Amino acid sequence: MSNETKSAKLRSVGKKPSEDPVAAVLLAASKLRAIPTYRNYGQASNWIVPARDSLLISLADLAEARGDEALAETLRKINRPRCTHVDEDEDGDDAEICAEILRDRDLRTTEHGMPIRLCPRHYLEMLEDDAEQARRWKEEQREQQEKDRARRERILKVPCERCEAPAGQKCRTAKGVFCPEPHDARCKTADRRTRLEVEN
Ligand SMILES: [Zn+2]
Ligand SMILES: [Zn+2]
Repeated sequence: MSNETKSAKLRSVGKKPSEDPVAAVLLAASKLRAIPTYRNYGQASNWIVPARDSLLISLADLAEARGDEALAETLRKINRPRCTHVDEDEDGDDAEICAEILRDRDLRTTEHGMPIRLCPRHYLEMLEDDAEQARRWKEEQREQQEKDRARRERILKVPCERCEAPAGQKCRTAKGVFCPEPHDARCKTADRRTRLEVEN
């Protein structure tokens, strides 16, 4: 570098952004922000930085050449995929968009190949929520099965007025074959008795 160029560079470093075009470009670059173009069901996705990757990289190189490592780093990462999690308050209004920049190892997909774009913290939360939901679902299934079993027992205790099966015996068809399900009339009688028992 010639002495003349060197001193020109030194002069330009000392200039204010208004009179230094490079500093003005970097100042504008430092104001670039990623914005989500899609928001739905507590998720913010399709983050767009209003600048092409090639421009962002050039700006990062420029920032680095000017010794602004922090801005260079930001510009290199700004277009990376971000966490899509949105914390919503009770009214369903957006409270907070996470938008954490994801590392390669955070780029997961569902078993159906749909992208999961969550930071480690929100990914863990999702897993916990899923586990909790699965646990609740199983519990509900178990309760329903228990209710059905108890009802079948109560129905069997009532004689059937349709096929005249006595208490304790399964209903039969006209041909004398056991029915897979008790007759409707028998179920209704049993349910009516249960209701009366509950009321008294
Ligand atoms: Zn997050
Ligand atoms: Zn019957």
